[in-house]
Amino acid sequence: MSNLQPSTLRIGRRYRPNRLAPAYDALVIGSGIGGLTTAALLSELGWKVCVLEQHYTAGGYTHSYARAGYEWDVGVHYIGDVGRKTRTRRLFDFLSGGRLEWAPMDAEYDRFYIGDKVFCARAGKKEFRDNLVAQFPAEEAAIDRYMQLLAEASGTASMLGLERLLKPWQRALATPYRKWKTPAFIYQNTYEVLRSLTADPDLIATICGQWGDMGLPPKQSAFLVHAMIARHYLHGGFYPVGGSWRIADTIIPKIQQAGGEVFTYARVKRIEVENGAVHGVEMEGGHRIECPCVVSSAGIDNTFNVLLPRNAVAKSGYNGALKHVRPSIGHLGVYIGLQATAEELGLPRTNFWIYPGNDYDAAVEAFLQNPEAPFPVVYVSFPSAKDPDYLNRHPGTATIEIVAPAPYEWFEQWQGTTWGKRGEDYEQFKAQLGERLMRHLYDKLPQLEGRVDYYEVSTPLSTEWFSGYRRGELYGLDHTPERLQQDWLGPRTRIRGLWLTGQDTLTCGVTGAMMAGLLTATAMAGARRMSPLMKQIFG
Ligand SMILES: Cc1cc2nc3c(=O)[nH]c(=O)nc-3n(C[C@H](O)[C@H](O)[C@H](O)COP(=O)(O)OP(=O)(O)OC[C@H]3O[C@@H](n4cnc5c(N)ncnc54)[C@H](O)[C@@H]3O)c2cc1C
Repeated sequence: MSNLQPSTLRIGRRYRPNRLAPAYDALVIGSGIGGLTTAALLSELGWKVCVLEQHYTAGGYTHSYARAGYEWDVGVHYIGDVGRKTRTRRLFDFLSGGRLEWAPMDAEYDRFYIGDKVFCARAGKKEFRDNLVAQFPAEEAAIDRYMQLLAEASGTASMLGLERLLKPWQRALATPYRKWKTPAFIYQNTYEVLRSLTADPDLIATICGQWGDMGLPPKQSAFLVHAMIARHYLHGGFYPVGGSWRIADTIIPKIQQAGGEVFTYARVKRIEVENGAVHGVEMEGGHRIECPCVVSSAGIDNTFNVLLPRNAVAKSGYNGALKHVRPSIGHLGVYIGLQATAEELGLPRTNFWIYPGNDYDAAVEAFLQNPEAPFPVVYVSFPSAKDPDYLNRHPGTATIEIVAPAPYEWFEQWQGTTWGKRGEDYEQFKAQLGERLMRHLYDKLPQLEGRVDYYEVSTPLSTEWFSGYRRGELYGLDHTPERLQQDWLGPRTRIRGLWLTGQDTLTCGVTGAMMAGLLTATAMAGARRMSPLMKQIFG
């Protein structure tokens, strides 16, 4: 049996007021990778940090859950840049004390079914490029230019990320340099940039085949985010050995070793602010935890529209700023269990992206108008095939996950109902959507028909229930060009003692949110105190 066997897949310590230490140096709201990274790095510097998580387990979107003898992840299907000693890998190694291991996916890590054509992405910068050229031989020059733009955008992304560390006055001084160094194309929409390189709609569609990784089709998304994601996976996809719950499981000890704790069932009701400064938080049960330093990793919407007092938000000038950001779309998830192994069933370590055609924006538009229209994208992932430890924990079985977009509005009539008790009409709607998604799976892998032992469907209401995103957001804030130019989205806030972290302060993705955690810890501790630690982590 595996030594990674979790007893219940629930990690973290159940919150009780009497389990709190007499005082903490910082409180962190939310135990996603953003919050845990901030907490672990501060702990390494000797801070005593208390992480408060509303869910029954820690990890945020990196948590896993078990049911009916199977185990599924919810927000981690593949992670890039961890196959070599990159910055991403070094940070994961440091946070997890080297206990988190990574398994590579197949060289063909993403496969795109676009109408009746099939394209793919292959691991390795040269292999990726050559594979694109092999699929589109007439477009070699456009593909080479695209690869150059990816490199340029990636350099700019690092500079923009670091700029978030600056204090407002430093930022003001740096603005002319930043403007000079920032190429205009990074804030253009992805389609515009690609259309300037090529007129081949299938090439554009193949290059944008991962748009589901940030939830916005090419005519709406900023090229910068497209480029960051494409670069992130350029050397292939990797899966955490033992399942995605291992991410939080391996990081939490660092927080505990410094005297801190990660509490679950710990919903923060309010961030307490007086005279423009944070004083602590009020918990759902009414208990108050005093602390002059609070980090929110619960997302921008929750922080500013739910947790902070209205007058504190207005007084610090955030009302106007909030109009420039909007929630991303929700999603449906299908969690499937089979009584045979991935090998027996012929499941690949490749993600499937299934599209009705090459005009992604038109497909999204049609779907939002009419739920009966084809799904604009159906994503299929094979976690048990990717995890070399899965069979040790669940012998003789396999799992599959399907993700597809779904607007929160379709489910709004059941808002406020209790998970598992939302009524027959909700169950029926969910079942219809689930059956449609299962047809896509059988279409691509007909050998699975009749082999599925169990499946269940989640909706944006499930995301709201378990992860606290009020509109069931798949990726927090939408990655529009406008959002990316909001320089108030970063670790610092205009409220003394309040800090932000997580996907909304940089970009979505486990790595995006983890890097946000690094920026937040650095801004909080100060670059001078952080620098020896940075040397230790990154060499
Ligand atoms: C279906 C899906 C698939 C994905 N696939 C991938 C992938 O393959 N690769 C990848 O890199 N990324 C993927 N992502 C994105 C990635 O999981 C996220 O971008 C990242 O994990 C976000 O981390 P975070 O720390 O910012 O937020 P979260 O993980 O969302 O953490 C925020 C936490 O705050 C808690 N919280 C909220 N309100 C309160 C409150 N009032 N009190 C206490 N706690 C509160 C929530 O419960 C939650 O645990 C996927 C996401 C989804 C939804």
